[in-house]
Amino acid sequence: MAYINENFLKLEKNYLFINIAKKINEYIEQNPDKKDNIIRMGIGDVTIPLAPCVVEAVKKGIEEMGVKETFKGYEDSGTGYDFLKEAVSGYYKSFGVDVPPEDIRISDGAKSDSGNIVDIFSDKNVVLISDPAYPVYVDSNLMSGRKIIYIDSTKENGFRAVPDRSVHADLIYLCSPNNPTGAAFTKAQLKDWVDYALENKAIIIYDAAYEAFVTEEDVPRSIYAVEGAKKCAIEICSLSKTAGFTGLRCGYTVVPSELVVENEDGTTVSVSQIWGRRQGSKFNGVAYPVQCGAAAVFSEEGQKQCRENLEYYKENARIIAAALDELGIWYSGGKNSPYIWLECPNGMGSWEFFDYLLSEANVVGTPGAGFGRNGEGYFRLTSFGDRQKTIEAMERIKKLLSK
Ligand SMILES: *Cc1c(COP(=O)(O)O)cnc(C)c1O
Repeated sequence: MAYINENFLKLEKNYLFINIAKKINEYIEQNPDKKDNIIRMGIGDVTIPLAPCVVEAVKKGIEEMGVKETFKGYEDSGTGYDFLKEAVSGYYKSFGVDVPPEDIRISDGAKSDSGNIVDIFSDKNVVLISDPAYPVYVDSNLMSGRKIIYIDSTKENGFRAVPDRSVHADLIYLCSPNNPTGAAFTKAQLKDWVDYALENKAIIIYDAAYEAFVTEEDVPRSIYAVEGAKKCAIEICSLSKTAGFTGLRCGYTVVPSELVVENEDGTTVSVSQIWGRRQGSKFNGVAYPVQCGAAAVFSEEGQKQCRENLEYYKENARIIAAALDELGIWYSGGKNSPYIWLECPNGMGSWEFFDYLLSEANVVGTPGAGFGRNGEGYFRLTSFGDRQKTIEAMERIKKLLSK
């Protein structure tokens, strides 16, 4: 007889976005004439197509694979081609952070790496996750039966959790700029976390999927902008939101050579080596044409084209934020992030506000309660949509809420 991993039974039954889709479908069934009027500002997916130079590079890559002389089979290392690792390293350099190509591993995205990384850490680890959070951190640790301590991200701390020195942790998940709250750590705040991690001999798993949205001077694009971080942090990045790769799939994870863990017998082990061993057994690398496309993102032309797309989303974020300012509604994000995280008006609950907005304005967002306990009473809007629809949605919301 086969036995299931019972930890999976502890997971939430319905994924947040399935619940949302169900509610939208029910509404459409009852109001078929409203179907085309609905504006979706809920899901965290991009809408602008790939940059032209990325498409060209992917095409060139696949052409090479159709020719005997340039055909590519398994990649030797499975950690990514040198041309891409060097491009990523150069990208880090462009904002003043030194990450050597050897410390970079190319992946099929940030979700798989942030979920899989738990494989290399003992179940004895105490895991610290700020609440609300991107669900992958919680789910992947529940699946492996680990103890999770939640630390509060709230309106009081601007949804930027502060380390609690009375609590010990071994693994710490941080995401900045944050999904879902849009909040981003300043360098001083991030340094506090790095210091806390070093004091606890803990490792920070730092999700920087939204680094390209950072606009403010004192908000780091990488945790390695903070001194000491290479001794305590793994950084996980993605081209999904920064270059529209959600359907193409490519990311990169930095495991610094300086990062070591002490064994119980006093010897040390390199985290990079163990992660490499794990990946060597369970992962065979990213498609060559995709890596060609990813390298194009970091070219001068690619950066120019991707920046334009980011500006489009950032302008949408400004439009959303301006409407909320007019209404006097409290929110975080929108500045260094495509997300705007707002306090539901009139003390409404997250799902209550979801229903209200859907039925009265035909606008769909994401209920904050889906991201953890502290998300109750909050609501996420995304700037990944079409400009005209974003403007229209905010006009409707203004009209509805200023009544
Ligand atoms: C979208 C997102 C990612 C990206 O995941 P991919 O697997 O690279 O598409 C990672 N982390 C967070 C917090 C995200 O919102």
